[in-house]
Amino acid sequence: MADYIAETVFVTGATGFIAKHIIAELLRRGYTVRGTVRDPSRAAAVEAALEKAGADTGRLSFAVGDLLSDEGWDEAMQGATHVMHTASPFPMEQPANPDDVIMPAREGTLRVLRSAHRNAVRRVVLTSSTVAVMYPCEYEADHVFSEDDFTDESLPGLTPYIRSKTSAEKAAWNFVQTTPGAPELTVINPGFVQGPALDGDLSTSLELYRLMARGAYPAAPRIRFPVCDVRDVAAAHAESLVRPQAAGERFIVARDETGLFALGRALAAECPDLKSKIPKFQLPDMAVRAMAVFDKRLRTILPELGRQKTYTSRKVTNYLGLSLRPGEEAVRDAIRSLRALDLI
Ligand code: NDP
Repeated sequence: MADYIAETVFVTGATGFIAKHIIAELLRRGYTVRGTVRDPSRAAAVEAALEKAGADTGRLSFAVGDLLSDEGWDEAMQGATHVMHTASPFPMEQPANPDDVIMPAREGTLRVLRSAHRNAVRRVVLTSSTVAVMYPCEYEADHVFSEDDFTDESLPGLTPYIRSKTSAEKAAWNFVQTTPGAPELTVINPGFVQGPALDGDLSTSLELYRLMARGAYPAAPRIRFPVCDVRDVAAAHAESLVRPQAAGERFIVARDETGLFALGRALAAECPDLKSKIPKFQLPDMAVRAMAVFDKRLRTILPELGRQKTYTSRKVTNYLGLSLRPGEEAVRDAIRSLRALDLI
């Protein structure tokens, strides 16, 4: 049970898929919310999507903030008691220059934490990822991944995105551990996030279906990844605000596993008219490695090839009281929402 109530929650990256669900959840719980956007002209669309989802946006305001600039953060955060830092680049294709994603992720996280510190914010909840957990330097074949594991971002072959999330999370822990009077930190590490889209501004994790529906993946690489529902990710963020025991902890939010081939089958089950577009078979790993030389999108998944990873997300239930939706439901509801929005 909560022993204190946050008043104004500052949410970075309000245009994001996950952030919109977090904001809706916070508004439902009675908080005042200030969300940041890079481009102020996009605030109206965010507000409209939230209203369509049934949120009362009377207690929602917006501020402008770019992770690559110091400008505006201190002023925007004034009066906030708590911060949720979700903004971070999540590109469909890995950039030629890794710093294009690593710099905004790491430097942006530090920027947000410094402003939070100057504004005497009590707790910061950071949206990290299971990718910051699941690539340690060494592990046994039967290892069960948990919040005790950290990716080693210096491992060769990791994508810039994996390195960006790991290095941002490590920088955040280092900041709170070395800065006297720093805010408390809680980190949420979601798997591949599914669940309903609130509008057509899709995250990479749902954009995938739009590509699939156009026949972009005639075959699927043999990769598996932890999956979760955006509604559970939002609830985990909201619970982290009020549970004293969440301070200084990280939480894996994921249940079950999925892969591109399975996602294609789920797409065909929900939208039989797209059956001819989905991946027809699974590609041997060698073929994927060879194709990745020419296809940048495939490089993103190279670290996943041939790996079977087991993990536990018991902690999110034990500490935050959440029972997570099955992966199948998350995937189904993502696809249904895209169909309802006429996006596939
Ligand atoms: P989205 O792409 O929908 O949201 C990303 C958000 O980050 C957008 O609001 C975007 O703003 C903002 N952003 C990116 N670069 C900057 C910048 N330089 N300055 C300010 N804002 C910036 O992705 P998701 O909602 O899926 O992801 C949100 C968070 O969750 C990210 O941290 C991501 O790494 C993490 N995550 C996502 C998973 C998933 O499967 N979706 C899995 C695990 C973690 P703009 O709209 O202006 O581009």
